[in-house]
Amino acid sequence: MKILITGGAGYIGSHTIIEILENTNWEVISIDNYSSSSEKTYQRIEKITGKKVTYYNIDLTDLSLTEKVFAENTDIAGIIHFAAFKSVPESVENPLMYYHNNLNSLINILKCQAKYNIPNLIFSSSCSVYGNLTELPVTETTPLNKPESPYAYTKQIGEKMVDDFIKTNANLKAISLRYFNPVGAHKSGLNGEVPIARPNNLVPYITQTAIGKLEQLTVFGGDYATNDGTCIRDYVHVCDIASAHVKALQKLVDDKNFEQHSIINLGTGVGVSVLEAIKAFEKVSNQKLNYKIGPRRAGDVEAIYANNTKAKELINWTPKFNIDEMMLSAWLWEQNLNKM
Ligand code: UDP
Repeated sequence: MKILITGGAGYIGSHTIIEILENTNWEVISIDNYSSSSEKTYQRIEKITGKKVTYYNIDLTDLSLTEKVFAENTDIAGIIHFAAFKSVPESVENPLMYYHNNLNSLINILKCQAKYNIPNLIFSSSCSVYGNLTELPVTETTPLNKPESPYAYTKQIGEKMVDDFIKTNANLKAISLRYFNPVGAHKSGLNGEVPIARPNNLVPYITQTAIGKLEQLTVFGGDYATNDGTCIRDYVHVCDIASAHVKALQKLVDDKNFEQHSIINLGTGVGVSVLEAIKAFEKVSNQKLNYKIGPRRAGDVEAIYANNTKAKELINWTPKFNIDEMMLSAWLWEQNLNKM
């Protein structure tokens, strides 16, 4: 079975390719334009798996270039569409860049899916579609609130576009996966997140501070109405996220009666505060982290974590890794990245 992965050189895309090559006999082709990744990712994938990936350097907002890949590969059985910009603050500063890239690339992928009659699609969505919540844990039926950023809005619109489009053709199926906070790295320590600029996300910020690339971590807000005053998130190991994609796609292939478009949360169901995340890192790395409590960051929600029952029921997915394992793998990767 041949699978097209868009954004295959990126953080979640590359871990998913590794998961596929290690655990299935699927053939992978990948499209990426390296806007926030690099071609070197494929060497890391090859080193870990011993297998080669066919890849294309293409901007998915260019329909004619995108179509060429489909014309060359008429036997694609499924698409996993990761490729998108994903920084919340960047999207606030440059909304058009986000609307242009995230929406046009999805439109082009859907056009090609229809034209080349590719039965299955997995769409990368995000828990940011829920906006600010009043009830936790969050289930897939929780009504979506106002998106807090243009990034989050591209994911809300993206899900809706997939939904409207899929229903126009009875031969097509899709699953939108709402990721909570993917962190960590492959257990080999040979692949992980490569923040291109100064990281925004907590875990790369922690590991870069620990290794000395950054001076100090600021905890954004210590006065939230949580146990220790810091925000709560549902951190989920990137390899668990990767395995969910394989299970989701397999389900679409196997179960002809499966709902045409399902939406599934991917979180552990465990809420972890910023201070608890720091403590987990300190424990597994056996060192103290230089951090201070600072002001709140604009746009942060106080607490969010998933109800993941639907993932268990529909695609038999249960996350395997806990926060200590997430932190340890991220730390191993940071140390290796430093040597590269
Ligand atoms: N965070 C922090 N300091 C940082 C980066 C993040 O305290 O340097 C906090 C942030 O306020 C949030 C949590 O860590 O409460 C997770 O933030 P991240 O940006 O990783 O994910 P998201 O905001 O998308 O949930």
